[in-house]
Amino acid sequence: MARRGLFKSRLAVYVAKVASGMVRAEDFENRVLARHVIEAVRNVGSQLCNSRDGAFFCPICSRGPFTKRGYYLHLTRLHYSYLLFLVDKEVERILKVSKMA
Ligand SMILES: [Zn+2]
Repeated sequence: MARRGLFKSRLAVYVAKVASGMVRAEDFENRVLARHVIEAVRNVGSQLCNSRDGAFFCPICSRGPFTKRGYYLHLTRLHYSYLLFLVDKEVERILKVSKMA
């Protein structure tokens, strides 16, 4: 349980990195994670990447503007568990779609 919690907690960090543009979605890779989890991180991260003129606005609570780093910190501090929730939902959706294909 503790290990799994630790592992899961990294997913919120990865999503925040993609969302804040620190890592481009297509460049996100991880040797430990399953393909569908990587895809879920990429998708959720891209959905949350909301910037105008170089400033970031949070689509979850509509606060902003943030710098790249500020937005990353905002997401990991305020929306940590929500990011995990979004990744979980996206993983479910991807698995469902791949079963139907
Ligand atoms: Zn927010």
